[in-house]
Amino acid sequence: MDNQPSLLIVDDDTTTLRILSKALNGLGQIRFATAGDEALRLVRENPPDLVLLDAEMPGMSGFEVCKAIKADPHLADVPIIFITSHTEASMEEAGLALGAVDFIGKPIRPAIVHARAQAHLRLKLAMDRLSQLAQTDGLTGIANRRLFDQCIERDWSGALRNQRPFSLLLLDVDYFKRYNDCYGHVQGDQCLITIAETLRACIHRPTDMVARYGGEEFAVLLPDTAAEGALQLANRIVADVEQQAMEHRESPFGHVTVSVGVASFDHASSGWMLTGNSLQGAKAHHPLSVSELIAVTDRALYQAKDEGRNRTHFIRIEG
Ligand code: GH3
Ligand code: MG
Ligand code: MG
Ligand code: MG
Repeated sequence: MDNQPSLLIVDDDTTTLRILSKALNGLGQIRFATAGDEALRLVRENPPDLVLLDAEMPGMSGFEVCKAIKADPHLADVPIIFITSHTEASMEEAGLALGAVDFIGKPIRPAIVHARAQAHLRLKLAMDRLSQLAQTDGLTGIANRRLFDQCIERDWSGALRNQRPFSLLLLDVDYFKRYNDCYGHVQGDQCLITIAETLRACIHRPTDMVARYGGEEFAVLLPDTAAEGALQLANRIVADVEQQAMEHRESPFGHVTVSVGVASFDHASSGWMLTGNSLQGAKAHHPLSVSELIAVTDRALYQAKDEGRNRTHFIRIEG
C-alpha cells in the first residue's frame, strides 16, 4: 500500500536502528539512514510523515539535519523526534527550539517510542487532511479559490521572472441561472460536478491546474503554455462539455455549454506589460499584476459571451 504513513529512522548505530524499527513496526513504511546527509537526501526525495533522528552522529549531526529540514518551506511540516543518550534538559531544550516535536532518551523503551511515534503520526496526518480540506472546493473536489489565488501568484511571478510563456483560462457556464430555475439546485450542483470532472480530464501536465473560481466559474492555470496550446485546450473544453450532453431545455443550444476566455503571454509579445489601464492605452508601462491578468482574461470571457456563448475568445496583450 503506498498510502501508508511513511517513517524515516536515522541513527549511525545499526543496533539502535534495529531496535527502533522493531518498536515502530506496524505504524507505516519505514526507511533508514545511517548518516545525516543521507537522511536529508531521503527527506528531500520523498518527505516522510515522521523522522526519528539521532542527535549525535559523525559528520552531519542530527541537529544540523533538523535545521536544514526546518529551513526548507516544503519540508518544514515534517515532524522530527530526537533520539539521544544525552538527556540533559539543555539538550532537550536545544532540540525543541530547533523545531523538533519530541525528544526521546536512550536506552530505548520500545512501547514508549511506539506510543509517542503513533501520537505524532496521527497529528501529522490530521494536519495534512485539514490543509488539504482548506484548499479543496467542497462541492467539486477540485482546487478552491484560496489555492488558486496562491498558485496564480506563484506561477505568474515565475513566468515573469523567467520570461516563460503563460496562459490563463476563465470559464463560465452559459445560462446557468435558467438551468437552476428549470432543474433545481441539486441538479445544478451535479452539473457543476460533471463540468469539474470534464475539466480535470482535459488537462494533462502536472503543473496545469483547474480550480473553482466562483459559483459557476472555473479557472485553468497553464504555466509554460503559449497561445496555441491554450486555445487548443480551451476549444477542447468547450467541445467536451457539449459532449457530456447534459440536457438544458432553457438554453438555445438544448444542452449545457460553457464560454471560455483565454489570455496568453510569451516573451515575444510585449504582453509582459500592460499599457496604461487599458490594452490599447498609451500611458506608463508596468508589469502586469495578477489582478490585471485576471481582468484581461475576464474581458475575453465577456467577449465569448457577447459573441454568442458556447465558444472561446482569445486575447493576446500587445504593449
Ligand atoms: P450567462 O450565460 O451570461 O453566464 O448566464 P448565467 O445565467 O449563467 O449567469 P448568472 O451569473 O446570471 O447566473 C449564475 C448562476 O449560477 C446563478 C446562481 O444561482 C448559480 N450558481 C452559482 N453557484 C452555484 C452553485 O454552487 N450551485 C448551483 N446549483 N448554482 C450555482
Ligand atoms: Mg549516534
Ligand atoms: Mg457567472
Ligand atoms: Mg453563467
